[in-house]
Amino acid sequence: MPEQPAFNVLDSLQGSHSPSPASGNAVCSRKGCRADAGWQLLWNNPRIHTPERRKIWASCSEHVGWFEDYLQTRGLWKETVPLGAHTPPDTAAAPEGA
Ligand SMILES: [Zn+2]
Repeated sequence: MPEQPAFNVLDSLQGSHSPSPASGNAVCSRKGCRADAGWQLLWNNPRIHTPERRKIWASCSEHVGWFEDYLQTRGLWKETVPLGAHTPPDTAAAPEGA
């Protein structure tokens, strides 16, 4: 039986394609804005999320204040961090040096 592992790998890569705003070239989440994101806004909605859950919005430097105001007004805001400078708790799987 012929084996084609290379094709299987390609199929799985294409099948698992999904946007990943927290990695690489994130774009501002503000509607209509296509600027490169420089900030991450970490937020949590206690009505639909567990307390340790963090939703992440990417934002450019121009709109980061708009997002903070939006989230703080609704009591959802947790943290604003520079993009790439912080690993959200739910994706920090293994401690360094373990
Ligand atoms: Zn923006």
